[in-house]
Amino acid sequence: MIILDNVVKKYNSGSEEISALGGVSAEIKPGEFTVILGPSGSGKSTMLNLLGGMDRPTSGRILVDGEDISAYPDRKLTDYRRRDVGFVFQFYNLVENLTALENVGIAANLNGNADKSAEILADVGLAGRMENFPNQLSGGEMQRVAIARAIAKSPKLLLCDEPTGALDVTTGARIFEILKNCSKNPDTAVVVVTHNPDVAAIADHVIRLRDGRIIADKTAACA
Ligand code: ADP
Repeated sequence: MIILDNVVKKYNSGSEEISALGGVSAEIKPGEFTVILGPSGSGKSTMLNLLGGMDRPTSGRILVDGEDISAYPDRKLTDYRRRDVGFVFQFYNLVENLTALENVGIAANLNGNADKSAEILADVGLAGRMENFPNQLSGGEMQRVAIARAIAKSPKLLLCDEPTGALDVTTGARIFEILKNCSKNPDTAVVVVTHNPDVAAIADHVIRLRDGRIIADKTAACA
């Protein structure tokens, strides 16, 4: 379970102070597909970066299974990021001179899951593409490799920043279905940041941000 407790994030930009998150509280549960929606500049990426330990809040707490990661010393935060967080980005970030299987293998090795790389690629529908290099794959296939790489770590948190932003609508819908499927793992919380409100239909939990504040927070049971 991940708890954001009155999280504030301010950035200093020259002489100006920008409030990216103005006191955000929410609960994010493993086994759920959580979607963070909001217009550009509303604080979505900031929230994702804080959850992933890529940055620290200005104030407030981020509890991951009861531990406040915002109070971790740098070394421990790096370990958290490496071990417990899987990232999926808009532009895949695959290593170009490694095959799909090798790209997944790197992440799997970090957590001793190397033998599972092929199985995980098959789970995302890429059984026949394991020996291909990224430039031999379509955008949707590259994103599936990136998802496989992220889940090979068996992360507590799978964080996805606009994962379908570079894909056509049909391919994007397929990627959302794959991510939804990943959230069936009871140990993994899947959190997706997107502009695309259509994805709310398959989400278990929808958090809407505007101007750095939560304006709606609904789980499927009470939607
Ligand atoms: P979103 O992901 O919803 O587009 P962001 O979280 O990227 O929103 O940004 C929220 C606000 O914080 C914006 O006003 C943005 O300009 C500002 N911001 C984000 N990152 C930085 C940064 N590193 N330095 C200064 N301002 C930032």
